[in-house]
Amino acid sequence: MRLIVDQDLCISCGLCIEICPEVFDWNDDGKANVTEDPIPEELEDSAQEAQSECPTDAIQEP
Ligand code: SF4
Repeated sequence: MRLIVDQDLCISCGLCIEICPEVFDWNDDGKANVTEDPIPEELEDSAQEAQSECPTDAIQEP
């Protein structure tokens, strides 16, 4: 699976990075970014949890 963070929607709450630091990290703009593309199978559940918990639905399928 692949995911992206819509930079206009991300409010830098840090929740995705807290839930799944293997896939999400801060970028130079202080927003969240996806660091694994594609996302390895063993991290999919955790990445999907982060996606569903994002308060602004910024984590999306490309
Ligand atoms: S959970 Fe959503 S709003 Fe919060 S840092 Fe991650 S992508 Fe941005």
